[in-house]
Amino acid sequence: MPNTKQTLVMKFGGTSVGSADALIKAGQIIKEARAQYPRLTVITSAMSGVTDLLLKSATLAAQGNVDSLPDTESTLREKHFSAANALIRDEKHCESTKLEISGLIQTLVDLCRAIAVLGEASPRAMDAVASLGERMSVRLLAAVVESTGIRAKAIESSEFVVTNSHFQSANPDFQATAEKARQCLNPLFEAGIVAITTGFIGATPDGVITTLGRGGSDYSAGIIGSVLPADEVWIWTDVDGVMTADPRLVASARTLPEISYSEIAELAYYGAKVLHPKTIRPLVEAGIGLRICNTFNPSHPGTHLVSNGHSNGKGNKADKVVKAVTAIRKQKLVTIEGRGMLGVPGVAARAFGAVASTGTSVPLITQASSEQSICFAIPSEAADHVLASLQKNFAVELSERDIDRVWATDEVAIITAVGYGTRNTPGIAGQIFGKLGEREINVLAIAHGSSDVSISMVVETEDTENAVKALHELIVESTQVNI
Ligand code: ADP
Ligand code: ASP
Ligand code: MG
Repeated sequence: MPNTKQTLVMKFGGTSVGSADALIKAGQIIKEARAQYPRLTVITSAMSGVTDLLLKSATLAAQGNVDSLPDTESTLREKHFSAANALIRDEKHCESTKLEISGLIQTLVDLCRAIAVLGEASPRAMDAVASLGERMSVRLLAAVVESTGIRAKAIESSEFVVTNSHFQSANPDFQATAEKARQCLNPLFEAGIVAITTGFIGATPDGVITTLGRGGSDYSAGIIGSVLPADEVWIWTDVDGVMTADPRLVASARTLPEISYSEIAELAYYGAKVLHPKTIRPLVEAGIGLRICNTFNPSHPGTHLVSNGHSNGKGNKADKVVKAVTAIRKQKLVTIEGRGMLGVPGVAARAFGAVASTGTSVPLITQASSEQSICFAIPSEAADHVLASLQKNFAVELSERDIDRVWATDEVAIITAVGYGTRNTPGIAGQIFGKLGEREINVLAIAHGSSDVSISMVVETEDTENAVKALHELIVESTQVNI
């Protein structure tokens, strides 16, 4: 059957463009996709490790330390230049690409020196630094693709992804982005050119560079895919697709051929690094297909995202519900407790207002009966700030002993079991807690019921791996039942 689809957006992650070998594979994948899709946009991450290195340089510079800058410069040069030398056949093109990358490395040095003089790195400065990784890799990838005989052009997404000025976690303006993206990209498609663009970055309406948050290149694929609009979005990474657990934690984790949008949203939100959680919404709303596949194993079909409710057509039996397990570390549980809260309306609203005023989001909430205590999780780095805000907001209640204390635990982890039917299938909670009990894992808090797609529980950090493995056994066992 002829391919009636025209527009494809593909995103390559850091490992997928992280070396000359990886770039050859990415180039080949792009060439094959170009043969099927006349309107092709390729989004690239920075080469693996580069964003971390850039941010570390800026953080050190803010402490007045620029001693490691020369090493950083040579690491960046070596990483990009060795791939350029190996893959860009035309000597002139190779030299001009390296010259542009050198210019960006010089920008890093200039920015870090300025940060060192100021003694601080504002979020805006951090974004200027962080964006350099994608700005380098996009030039390299475009040149590599051209070397395979495909017409390609590097274009920085700051030219058409318009965001607010919430630096380090900017939100896109979809309407402005749609207009600009079509203006920038359609002429390239019409001229038969593949657009190679940067993930992760955008710009304010005034043209100041912003980033979408760590791991945000996936989100770029969601944004660009939805505004063009694309027929499909394919995310190329270093595993065969979405797996039943992080393969670094569970060796027996398997690739899921299909997963629903709600399930992947829950997995991504609760720590599965394979997809940035914000990627999904724009694609679901625009009805665009999403596939996650492996640059290093391109013949594997990967994972296809399917509409909600279709991914687990096997009925509501407890042994078939849990589909994947994930963990998110570096959290703290905050508890507000006191008998004086009993029946007093508005305590929760004030508590979450106080948390929100610190810009912290809350991944999990539980409340004991009669409002004697409210307990919720927050990222541990926000704990001091959140506790101070709560203490300030409840100063009167604390002094009058209506609230006894507001406190945070040591670092904990949230473990989440994902799969349709976690709320409405009898026996699921029993199975989960049975598994954790067998391994003597203590559960500090539970969130269950607000979603039919997940159950989350909080455990001590040292129990993280054990808990994920324990719950993963439920999936393995259910697979055995199915065979
Ligand atoms: P990229 O650079 O391609 O964006 P990431 O490192 O951000 O790649 O995400 C891919 C990694 O996510 C995998 O190598 C894997 O270790 C990790 N991961 C965590 N949970 C899962 C999961 N459930 N399925 C697949 N990969 C997962
Ligand atoms: N390079 C950015 C990061 O490391 C964005 C991405 O790779 O998705 O966070
Ligand atoms: Mg990623």
